[in-house]
Formats: sequence, structure tokens, C-alpha cells
Amino acid sequence: MEIFFLGTGAGVPAKLRNVTSIALKLLDERGTIWLFDAGEATQHQILHTSIKPRRIEKIFITHLHGDHIYGLPGLLASRSFQGGESEVTVYGPKGIKDYLQASLSVSQTYLKYRLTVIEIEEGVIFEDGQFFVEARLLDHGIPSYGYRIVEKDKPGTLLAEKLREAGVQPGPIFRKIKNGETVLLEDGRVINPAEFLGPPQKGRIVAILGDTRFTENAAKLAEKADILVHEATFAKGEEKLAYEYFHSTAYQAAMIARQAGCKQLCLTHISARYDRNASKELVKEAMEVFPAIDIAEDFKEISIPLSK
Ligand SMILES: [Zn+2]
Ligand SMILES: [Zn+2]
Repeated sequence: MEIFFLGTGAGVPAKLRNVTSIALKLLDERGTIWLFDAGEATQHQILHTSIKPRRIEKIFITHLHGDHIYGLPGLLASRSFQGGESEVTVYGPKGIKDYLQASLSVSQTYLKYRLTVIEIEEGVIFEDGQFFVEARLLDHGIPSYGYRIVEKDKPGTLLAEKLREAGVQPGPIFRKIKNGETVLLEDGRVINPAEFLGPPQKGRIVAILGDTRFTENAAKLAEKADILVHEATFAKGEEKLAYEYFHSTAYQAAMIARQAGCKQLCLTHISARYDRNASKELVKEAMEVFPAIDIAEDFKEISIPLSK
């Protein structure tokens, strides 16, 4: 599981940073990629990476500002030309359906794959055996969502050798025990699965937030997350400006990470006003409250290890 930043700028594309798009690479976990936002030229950014658009399974849109969605129709259209045949689901605020329907129909774009568009409300918006995704509204003037992606815990590995030693022969019974079922043997013994399974593997938690002012909901989404990706459009001391423009400072993002007990914070949505050196300053001032901070760069990848 890795987070790959395709665009990390705020508002308008800049040479150093394109507008927002973040890929959550789940290639080992499910052979797919989930995308968060698709600002203009997201597909051009993808051309410089090993990401295959046909691998994109889900696209989560945080909000409908242009710097987060102008790249979406083009990306969906090109995916069709690039051999994408599997279904794509787009999640986003109310209005995302109209936007996609209009841009695809006016441009007479016909997709060779099934596209499902879901206009979300707060709550759990997706769940399967492996993951669930929760959305909450942030504070950005227009509806802007944050997403909490939770990988479910996996049961421990089967201690096959120990079972054999206990005189249990391999077969369907092993699968039952692996699934956590209590098993009655023919000789009348009862096998308690907990005794024959290693420790469960804790799933990871990733919080990827849309543009927002400093808000409680951000901390709820990020609770105990392995990584929080939070915007930092302004520098410390510019809280008033940040408030007026419905954005956050780097320092405020760090406050959220601390309050939520995150393992790591990555700042993104960095204004073009900050060059490389100035953005290092952003990190420094935020570190006063939360030390484990990274700043996103276009094409930067952060891997999220399993906890031991
Ligand atoms: Zn933005
Ligand atoms: Zn915005």
C-alpha cells in the first residue's frame, strides 16, 4: 500500500506542482488503484509514472472546485482508449453526476467500460471484505469531503505444524480453523481456533482530506490513522487569511494530526507562493506540534507499512 502524489498544488497548476490528485496504490492488496481527485492534467502526470489507468478501480472526489475535477472527464475517456475494460466507480458530492454526464455527452465520449457515479452523503460509502471507506463533510464553503480508508484486520496465519502435532490432518478442517470456526473432531475433541492461529494482522488506516478550514471532523476522520494527508495552503501566522479562504495553515494541519493521534502527517495542496525552501519552512513550523511530518511533492511516493 502506497500513496503516490500526482499533483500537490493549490488552485492553479504551477511548474513545480500540478493541481490535486492522489493515488492510493493497492496493487498488492487488490491489484487496483484508488484515485483521490483528478485536477487538470492528471492523466499527463500519470504518463510519467508506472500507474496504468486501466488499474484505476475507484475515484473519490473530495469537492467540485475545478482544481480537483477538471482532469476527470479526460482521464475517464483516455482510460477507454488505453484498454480499460473493468468498471470504475466515482464517488463525490452532489453535482458530480451532472458534471460527468454533461462533459461526456457533449463531447460524445463513449466509454468501453461501465462507469458508476455515486453522489455521497456522510457515512460509510463503501465496504467489502477488505476495506471500508467513511466520508465526512469538512469546512470549505462548498461541500468538501474527507475520506477515511480503513483496511480490515486479517486473521492470523494458520499454525499448521501445531495442528499436525495435535493429530489434526490437513483438509477442509484447516480452512474452517483458519476462518476462525470452532471445530468438533471425530474423536470428540473441540478445537479452539484461537489456539492454532498466529496474531491477527492489524489493518491500516489512511485519511485523505479535501480542502478545508481547521475543523473537528478532520480529526475524527484521521483518528489513529497511519497517515493523514491534509491540505496546508497557508503558512503559520496566516490563520485569518486561511479562515477567509476556507483553507488551513500547515500548523493547523499538524494540530489535527496531534489531536487525532496519527502516526504520520503529509502536507499537500501547497500554494505556488511557497517555493521549495519556503515549503520547508511550512514543515518546520508545523513540526513544533507534530514531529512526524512530510511534505508532498509531485511524483513522491510514501509507503504505508503494516504494523508489527
Ligand atoms: Zn483546491
Ligand atoms: Zn477547494
